[in-house]
Amino acid sequence: MAKDNPGDILTCDWNPVIGCQRFSAACRKCWYLDGIFPWQQRLGNIPAQVRPNEAWVFEKRMKVEAL
Ligand code: SF4
Repeated sequence: MAKDNPGDILTCDWNPVIGCQRFSAACRKCWYLDGIFPWQQRLGNIPAQVRPNEAWVFEKRMKVEAL
C-alpha cells in the first residue's frame, strides 16, 4: 500500500494490470495517462515497449509467493 509518497502507487500497491483508454470527456485530463504512466515508465517501473492505452499484465505480480 502506498504510504510514503504518491510514487508508491505503482511500486507498493498491487497493480497486476495497467493500461486504459480515454472513453469520455472526463478522461480528457487523465492523471494516470498524462502523469503517472509516463513518469513511472521513465523510472523503469513500466517497460518501455508498453503503450498506455493497451492492457499490460505484470505476470510476475500474478504469482503468489509463500511467506
Ligand atoms: S484512468 Fe484515465 S483514461 Fe482511464 S477511465 Fe480513468 S480517467 Fe479515463
